Parts: sequence; C-alpha cells; structure tokens
Amino acid sequence: MSDCLFCKIVNREVPSTPVYETDKVYAFLDIEPEAPVHVLIVPKQHIASHNELTAENVDIMKDIHLAVNEIAKKLGVAESGYRLINNCGPNAGQTVLHLHYHIIGGRELSTKIL
Ligand code: 5GP
Ligand code: ZN
Repeated sequence: MSDCLFCKIVNREVPSTPVYETDKVYAFLDIEPEAPVHVLIVPKQHIASHNELTAENVDIMKDIHLAVNEIAKKLGVAESGYRLINNCGPNAGQTVLHLHYHIIGGRELSTKIL
C-alpha cells in the first residue's frame, strides 16, 4: 500500500535497521526501543491489522512465529525470555496500520500485561 509506513520500510523507501528477512517477512529495529531488544516483525504483504487476518492470508502467521524464534535466538533472548506483542486497533494503541509484532526483551519486564 503506497501510503503505508511499514510497506515503505519493507520496500526500502524508508530506511530501517534489518534484523531478519525472508521472502515473506521482514524484521527491523523499533525506532523508539522500549528495551535493549525491541524488534518489529511484519509480513511483506500489506495486512492492516490482526482483524484483517483471514483463512486466505493466515498462513503468514506460521512464517511470523517461526521468524520470531529465529530472531529471539539470534539476539540472545530466547533463553532469558521476551514479550511478543500485537496491538490491534485504537484502544490497544496501534499507531501503524500494517500488522506487526513487537519482540521486546533484554531486560526484566513487568509481570503485569497492562
Ligand atoms: P504500534 O504502536 O502500532 O503497535 O507500534 C508501532 C511501532 O512502530 C512503535 O513502537 C514505533 O516506535 C515504531 N515506529 C514508528 N515509526 C517508525 C519508523 O519510521 N521506523 C521504525 N523502525 N519504527 C517505527
Ligand atoms: Zn503496509
């Protein structure tokens, strides 16, 4: 989608720091990290939010979750632990309307979700 920030990042029209990439997913450092490890992982295909996952496109979730495991190992947080977050919609604070998961770790995180 031409006016989508994360599509532009996927297409290298907007610079980012790559962490992991396949033909279907791209992961890069969050520009405002909340922890020593803060990676965003997105499908290369534009999917606006978790609400837009369907029987036709949900296969991408397999790629995303396997990529999360690779990234966690690569960045050394697989054993220490991390939080995997998806914000969906306004009440959750989704600011970029392209499906993305936050991988946050590298320090002890609050045990409270909210
Ligand atoms: P959301 O709040 O939608 O779940 O998360 C959006 C995330 O994208 C935020 O953590 C924010 O820091 C990050 N972000 C926003 N703009 C950019 C950008 O231009 N580059 C990168 N790397 N991250 C961004
Ligand atoms: Zn997009």
